[in-house]
Amino acid sequence: MTKPLRHLCLILGDQLNLDSSALADFDPQQDAVWMAEVIEESTHIPSSKQRTTLFLSAMRHFAQSLQAKKWSVHYTRLEDPDNTGTLAKELDKAIAENKPQKLVMTAPGEWRVLQSLRAVAKQHGVTLEVRDDTHFFSTVREFAEHAKGRKQLRQEFFYRELRQKTGILMEGKKPIGGQWNFDEDNRGSFGKAGPGQLPQPTRFEPDAMTKEVMAVVNDRLSKHPGTLNSFGWPVTRAQALEALDSFIQHRLPSFGLYQDAMWEGEVWLYHSHIASALNLKLLNPREVVSAAEKAYQQDHVPLPAAEGFIRQILGWREYVRGIYWTQMPEYLERNEMQASAHLPAFYWSGDTEMACLRDAITQTLNHGYAHHIQRLMVTGLFALLLGVHPKEVHAWYLGVYVDAVEWVELPNTLGMSQFADGGVMASKPYVASGKYIDRMSNHCKGCRFDPAVATGQNACPFTTLYWDYLHRHVDVLAKNPRMLMQLKNLNRLSPEAREEIATQANLIKNSH
Ligand SMILES: Cc1cc2nc3c(=O)[nH]c(=O)nc-3n(C[C@H](O)[C@H](O)[C@H](O)COP(=O)(O)OP(=O)(O)OC[C@H]3O[C@@H](n4cnc5c(N)ncnc54)[C@H](O)[C@@H]3O)c2cc1C
Ligand code: SF4
Repeated sequence: MTKPLRHLCLILGDQLNLDSSALADFDPQQDAVWMAEVIEESTHIPSSKQRTTLFLSAMRHFAQSLQAKKWSVHYTRLEDPDNTGTLAKELDKAIAENKPQKLVMTAPGEWRVLQSLRAVAKQHGVTLEVRDDTHFFSTVREFAEHAKGRKQLRQEFFYRELRQKTGILMEGKKPIGGQWNFDEDNRGSFGKAGPGQLPQPTRFEPDAMTKEVMAVVNDRLSKHPGTLNSFGWPVTRAQALEALDSFIQHRLPSFGLYQDAMWEGEVWLYHSHIASALNLKLLNPREVVSAAEKAYQQDHVPLPAAEGFIRQILGWREYVRGIYWTQMPEYLERNEMQASAHLPAFYWSGDTEMACLRDAITQTLNHGYAHHIQRLMVTGLFALLLGVHPKEVHAWYLGVYVDAVEWVELPNTLGMSQFADGGVMASKPYVASGKYIDRMSNHCKGCRFDPAVATGQNACPFTTLYWDYLHRHVDVLAKNPRMLMQLKNLNRLSPEAREEIATQANLIKNSH
């Protein structure tokens, strides 16, 4: 008689770390790992070819590394003929077949997935032990504690708490350099001369396993967004470490200064491109932060670059996770500005005359990547100004980016970029006219629209919609002291000018 199975350890596509809490007490003699590729995870929102390929290839490589240790792995491939298509049904099958005494998993990255796996465990009357995700610096309980009694949540305060708790970039109780935040130094543009010679991005030639996944994705998800021609994301821990090392050596020194800058046709700039490796847990945030801190200590990078980068991971990444898990499931339903328009069709093709949007969307479809300011102040801003329903914006962001997992994507999209949570995540809506994009990029030079003009043939749609947005929402925005300056400028417009802007804005809205 075979030995009964003690633990069936559930490993999801974004939990590919050997030091995962789910595997902390793994005993190959009496435990097994369960992993499943299912179509539902690529179709409940239309997941791009790049994103699905990355997840499946990284899962297969991880499973292979477990099998090499002689661990028992129950693995379902997308193309397996008896694949039932959902995580719930696959788990149901695995429990019936293996009769584990207990299911063990690390807390997943999505509320929906947790509910569905819990329901299956309950149906079978088997315990599902959900363990803390030790990958993060903080726990959701710590965030909830921080949030208790505060009228407003702000990233900066949680970040300072974590700096103090971890001692990162600290001199005793004080921040190194005498200030917590060097954001003011991190807003440079490339100027007229442009970025010049940029460091090469670290990309990886797909191996046989990745190529196999690419063929499956091209076959089964042929209508899904994007292309796979340029696929080069790290799919193993070794590749992720190489990508991190190359970033620290070649791009971190200029990361801070050019964090917000954009340049036509330049996809990679000085960013790290490691969000997907972090979110799939191929990299641990501690090793990433520690590499950046060390680069500063060794005088390889200036303090504002190291601090600016560390803040994104120790600050923003931890903060948005806390927001997600303390606000769900109601958060998904928030629509503070009552936006109801549909996402324009060009978000799926890049086919638009607006040069900034064309560039950001085209690179997104080709690579599954755009940097933060492209997401926030180009694609996100246009959807916000147009009044697109937050759920449609959310589905787009969750589907197209290789680093998209709901715990991090949703607060960034619905909260930071669409202000649909009414200010839980950000203190004011991130709204600007086309002039902001002109300042931070060269897109406007090659565009048929003029960012300084709000009405007429050449009017930049961002600029028209910016004034229209302020006008439309003046009652809500007037309650926010951080919007006073922008509303003061709105008040300077004559009633005729406002009328003309409203007419032009309606034309834009009706044409999408
Ligand atoms: C509308 C919108 C949607 C977004 N969706 C996602 C998403 O699905 N997944 C995701 O990881 N990030 C998301 N972000 C945050 C950020 O844009 C990406 O993390 C970043 O662009 C990834 O590129 P990079 O690895 O080159 O990052 P870098 O610019 O090099 O930054 C370094 C790291 O900091 C972290 N980071 C930076 N900003 C944030 C942030 N706001 N929230 C959380 N972590 C951050 C990431 O891990 C990133 O890899 C979104 C931002 C916006 C405005
Ligand atoms: S003019 Fe307007 S639409 Fe054109 S690139 Fe500039 S901001 Fe974008």
